[in-house]
Amino acid sequence: MKTLKIAIQKSGRLNEKSVEILKNCGLSFENYKSSLISSVTNFPLEILFLRDDDIPEYVQDGIADLGIVGENVITETGADVTYLQKLGFGKCTLKIAVPNNSNITKISELEGLAIATSYPVILEKFLQQNAVPNVQVRTISGSVEIGPGLGLSDAICDIVSTGGTLKSNGLKPFAEVMKSEAVLIGNKGTEFNPEVQELMQRIRSVLRAKETKYVVLNVAKTDLKKVVELLPGVKSPTVVPLFDQDWVAVHSVIAEHDFWEKINLLKAAGAEGIVVMPIEKIIT
Ligand code: ATP
Ligand code: ZN
Repeated sequence: MKTLKIAIQKSGRLNEKSVEILKNCGLSFENYKSSLISSVTNFPLEILFLRDDDIPEYVQDGIADLGIVGENVITETGADVTYLQKLGFGKCTLKIAVPNNSNITKISELEGLAIATSYPVILEKFLQQNAVPNVQVRTISGSVEIGPGLGLSDAICDIVSTGGTLKSNGLKPFAEVMKSEAVLIGNKGTEFNPEVQELMQRIRSVLRAKETKYVVLNVAKTDLKKVVELLPGVKSPTVVPLFDQDWVAVHSVIAEHDFWEKINLLKAAGAEGIVVMPIEKIIT
């Protein structure tokens, strides 16, 4: 059996979450900061630790079968790979920002200006799509946000998550170019490999579990219907008798995104002693 290779970021914003998701899939491996490669002891897989910029091409060329990397990097490199699964972390937005005192309000007003960026391919495509062809795109590899302050550019195009870096450099976001998150990518055709399918199934079950919580609560039988009606998305909750025959315990799964709202509604409907537990995996 061929040993698969998955490329993940060696250090940086995606490293920790990439390692975490693989460990949550039950994969056992050493995460030495110094090593380039680590063997999984309980699955035919090797992990390559690389700079994120190199991952799409390694996967395209088949040096790695799989990779975990930001969509921004995949699009910028233009690598020919298969998107297998969005992973829900490393979320950020590529934005154009201008100095606070700029009165630019429309994308067309970028015409004739210079924009500094580490993402020239994505930016050029965006400018073309918005019919602003005469923009000088200045490619710099880091600290793009100091461009306007140094007189290097009139605007920048860079990754923004909280906006704090822009603010401290006297810049304001002005147009959204692309949203990005970490994704699992594969070499073309690798998704048909049974081991890859097994790994993808594990990843999906870990992701599904993250989106939900396991809830156990007690409720008087008289209020049971009201409480059960608040628990959608499952075929039917499990109802267990309690020693006090007028009461039951209800076991269910609820979504993380409306968790607090749901809990308050359940309390108002008569739920008591609500216990909430994380779910490790959901196998369907
Ligand atoms: P490397 O040394 O691997 O080349 P890097 O410095 O290029 O690392 P990081 O800053 O670690 O990259 O970011 C990796 C990825 O994390 C980005 O390409 C992007 O997809 C994502 N990301 C999420 N939030 C942010 C953010 N606030 N700033 C930058 N990148 C972010
Ligand atoms: Zn990088």
